[in-house]
Amino acid sequence: MTACPCTSGRTFEACCAPYLAGAEPPDAPSLMRSRYTAFVRGDHAHLIRTLHPEHEDRRLPARALKDRLAKHGKRARYHGLSVIDHDGPDAQGIHRVLFRVSMKLAGADASFAELSSFAVAEGGIRYLTGQMIDPRALDREGITSIPDLARLP
Ligand SMILES: [Zn+2]
Repeated sequence: MTACPCTSGRTFEACCAPYLAGAEPPDAPSLMRSRYTAFVRGDHAHLIRTLHPEHEDRRLPARALKDRLAKHGKRARYHGLSVIDHDGPDAQGIHRVLFRVSMKLAGADASFAELSSFAVAEGGIRYLTGQMIDPRALDREGITSIPDLARLP
């Protein structure tokens, strides 16, 4: 029994493992967690499979995408995920998840926050796009929800 890399407090088997094995996550936060776990474990097939058909990376040849993920994976060390808030679907079918990732790239702090958008396609929820946010801005403005983001300059 190992702790899930997504830092949910559950075991890997009871959390992200079924999604990495191909089961469809029931909601956007679960998909987002499974993608984080896939980054930690180097599961590039899951990362590619869960991209929405309209995600810009889907235009790349699969080989180029895999090479890029492998190169990134060699330099990255992940230290934790914190899901702050989620909402949706809205009238356009968009689900959103606000989260923070603690990580290093080649030894340097590369922690970030992101507001990700997801939509249903190909029989499940898929990652459509992400807007990076400076995690220091979240702290500075005391942001604890998606509506709070309106306070950012
Ligand atoms: Zn998990």
